[in-house]
Amino acid sequence: MTGARTTPEPQGVALLGSTGSIGTTALRVLDRQRDRFSVAALTAFSNEALLREQAERFRPEFVGMVGDSANGDWKSGTECLIEAATLPSAHIVLNAVVGAAGLDATLAALYHGKRVALANKETLVVGGNLVLAAAREGGGELVPVDSEHSAILQCIGSRPASEIRRLVLTASGGPFRTWPDERIERATLADALQHPTWQMGRKITVDSASLANKALEVIEAHFLFGLPYDRIDVVVHPQSVVHSFVEFVDGSVLAQMGVPSMELPVLYALTHPERLTDTGVPTFDPVELSPLTFEPVRYDRFPMLELGTNAGRAGGAAPAVYNAANEAAVALFLGGAVAFTDIPRAVEHALSRLSGASADSRDALLAADAEARRLVTELFHEC
Ligand code: NAD
Ligand code: MG
Repeated sequence: MTGARTTPEPQGVALLGSTGSIGTTALRVLDRQRDRFSVAALTAFSNEALLREQAERFRPEFVGMVGDSANGDWKSGTECLIEAATLPSAHIVLNAVVGAAGLDATLAALYHGKRVALANKETLVVGGNLVLAAAREGGGELVPVDSEHSAILQCIGSRPASEIRRLVLTASGGPFRTWPDERIERATLADALQHPTWQMGRKITVDSASLANKALEVIEAHFLFGLPYDRIDVVVHPQSVVHSFVEFVDGSVLAQMGVPSMELPVLYALTHPERLTDTGVPTFDPVELSPLTFEPVRYDRFPMLELGTNAGRAGGAAPAVYNAANEAAVALFLGGAVAFTDIPRAVEHALSRLSGASADSRDALLAADAEARRLVTELFHEC
C-alpha cells in the first residue's frame, strides 16, 4: 500500500511574557521552527510597541496587553493571561512571565490538559502543591525551561526517583562572588546588573546577584522532581557550562553541558522528550570552554540562599512569603529606594511576621503574598 507522507500540523504555542528576555529568545527559536510550531497567543505587560511588532510578524490568534496587578488591576491582568493560556489552539503554554503574577495562568493551562513550558519558576515557589494537583486533575504536563532543571530532566531520562541519590544545581555565583562583605554592602544597581555569564531580565539578574534565584530553583527542583530538600545541593560554577548534576544511588554522576544560552532549554521544553536536529546550537568545544571550576557556596555572604531553602523546608505559605517579599524588595532596589543588603533584611522581616500564614488554597497563598509585600513597603516607609 502506498500513501503520501503526512506532515503533522504545527503545534500552537501561547507565549506569555513575549517582550521579555525569555519571550524574545523563544520567538527567535520559534521563528526557526515554523514547520513544527505556530504562535497562537502573545501577551506582555510592558513594551507595547515590541508586542505589536511581534504580533505583525507571527500573526497569533490572541494578543494581550496585561493590566498592572500592583495598581489593583490584578484581575484583568490575570484574566488576560488565563485567556491566552486556555486558548483551544494553544497546545503548549510557554510561561515566561516574571513573578507570582504567572501562577494562575500555569494552573489554568494545566487544568486544561496543556503542556506548560515553565520559565516562570515563581509559579512553583508560590503554589507548588496546587500546581502538581492541577497537572494531576487536568492531565497537563509541566516541563521546565530553567537551564538547571532542563539539565536535570535530561540527565534523569526515564529513571525512577528511587534511583536518584542527589541533585546538584550549579550557580554562577553572580557578579559579587569574589567581593568582600563591605564591598557588597555598597553595591549599586549597576553592579548588581552586571551578570558575568547570562543576559536576562532585571529581576532575575538581581536574584542571581543575591543568590535568591538559586533558592527559588532549589524549591522549583523539589516540586519538579519530588525530592526532599536534603537531597538537593548547590555548587558554584562560575563558567555556567555544566548546567547541573544528577548523582544516582550507585555513585554515578551525570551532567548536562552547553554554552550559556537559553535557546536550547526553551526549545527542549517544547519538544521533550524528542530532540531536533536543526537547532542552530554551536558545536560544543570543551577545550575552548575550559577550565571548568567548582567552589562551595558562601552561605554567610549570600543569606538569601539559606533563607529561601529554609522557607522551602518550612513549607506551607513560607515559600510564597519569601518570594513575595523578595519581589517587593527587588522592585524597591531596582527603583533606587533601598540598598542591595536591604533585600535579605526585608525578606527575613516578612518571614518572621508571617510564619503561621495559611496555605490552604490559592486565595490563602495570594493573601500571604499580598501581606508580605505590604510588610516590606511598610518596613522601608518607617525608615
Ligand atoms: P523579563 O523581565 O525580561 O520579562 C518578563 C515578561 O513578563 C515581559 O514580557 C513582561 O512584559 C511580562 N510581565 C512582567 N510582569 C508581568 C505581570 N505582572 N503580568 C503579566 N506579564 C508580566 O524576565 P525574564 O528574564 O524573561 O524572566 C521571565 C521568567 O523566566 C522569570 O520567572 C525568570 O526567573 C525565568 N527565567 C529567566 C531566564 C533568563 O535567562 N532570562 C532563565 C531562566 C528562568
Ligand atoms: Mg536557572
